[in-house]
Amino acid sequence: MKDSVLERPIYLDYQATTPTDPRVVDAMLPYLREKFGNPHSIQHTYGREAEAAVETARAQVAELLGADEREIIFTSGATESNNLAIKGVAAFQKGRRDHIVTAVTEHKCVLESCRRLEGEGWRVTYLPVGQDGLVDPAVVEAAVDDTTALVSIMAVNNEIGTIQPVDRIGEICRARGASFHSDAAQAVGKIPFDLSATKIDLLSLSGHKVYAPMGIGALFVRRRPRARLLPLFDGGGQERGLRPGTLAPHLCVGLGTACAIAKAEMDTENQRLAALSDRLRGRLEAGLDRFWINGSRDHRFVGNLNVSFQDIDAEELVRAIPGVALSTGSACTSASVEPSYVLQALGLGDDRARSGVRIGLGRFTTEAEIDQAAAEIIAAVTALRAASTAAQ
Ligand SMILES: *Cc1c(COP(=O)(O)O)cnc(C)c1O
Repeated sequence: MKDSVLERPIYLDYQATTPTDPRVVDAMLPYLREKFGNPHSIQHTYGREAEAAVETARAQVAELLGADEREIIFTSGATESNNLAIKGVAAFQKGRRDHIVTAVTEHKCVLESCRRLEGEGWRVTYLPVGQDGLVDPAVVEAAVDDTTALVSIMAVNNEIGTIQPVDRIGEICRARGASFHSDAAQAVGKIPFDLSATKIDLLSLSGHKVYAPMGIGALFVRRRPRARLLPLFDGGGQERGLRPGTLAPHLCVGLGTACAIAKAEMDTENQRLAALSDRLRGRLEAGLDRFWINGSRDHRFVGNLNVSFQDIDAEELVRAIPGVALSTGSACTSASVEPSYVLQALGLGDDRARSGVRIGLGRFTTEAEIDQAAAEIIAAVTALRAASTAAQ
């Protein structure tokens, strides 16, 4: 039993999903067993204990974000939160404003939501990013006017870890009367937020990026000034009418517990991750030449390293190191052989975009794993380069 666990590949794909923290699983189990009540059936103990658990979880999510618990709407994940924010604001603003602004490096679910609205007559501006992956606030300022209903810019990029200047962008949007939404699936629990002090109107998060299970997420909806949006579903009026349907208490408890843990441990965990990431970079630098870190060096989440190795096809590299689980880009596009649209947006050119490997570190990553993974990457890159030289 133990051996089979040890033989599992080293997991370095924390941006695709995080393992559920065992403390989160423990907190959830009673709500899958004896505390099975419907949180909306509060005439009896079963319902009331489920409702109490949901409300505790809501407060835990709010606490991590510096928000009020009445500003937290539970959803099935960041995809749903992003759809609700973007299409919900658009539905409310229809006939008042007709313009949406986003960036080319956003997650597919943001870009596809905008595409659908474009098909319905909305004008959408897709902002470029610099070579470092950052959106320039001056470019946002130039794009937003009093016809703009919504600006959607993510907080941390899922492929290259770039941290966008969302506080500054929020100020710009507020000054123009446009709602500002941020997809923070990769940011919540990783970088600090105090939403009470920002001008972010809507913010999406995902349970399975923050050590809770898949299938749960949340949307922050600001109360003052009130963010205006319409629901996507009709139903029983749950979640302040914005997201009807019976809540899943065990999943809410999982997300709440995960947020409480993240709040308590973020600072020490980020120091640990920064040291591991430096160690990995140091090992690669000692063992290899001709590679680049993609995205901003300074404005990035420490648990992400996106690396391009010259003359190496990322897909081939990942196949050559089955002992390490990593990704060549966003999991959502991994079935296609197209180079990553995020790396292309940095203006890197096809070769460097095709050679980008995403290395994601997290809570359960150890020094020993980093050393082993670095050794395997160095050996594989060296061998692949030697083979391609020999073939010429
Ligand atoms: C994972 C992710 C999503 C999608 O979240 P789900 O909860 O899986 O729907 C959206 N945006 C970003 C940036 C992500 O990393």
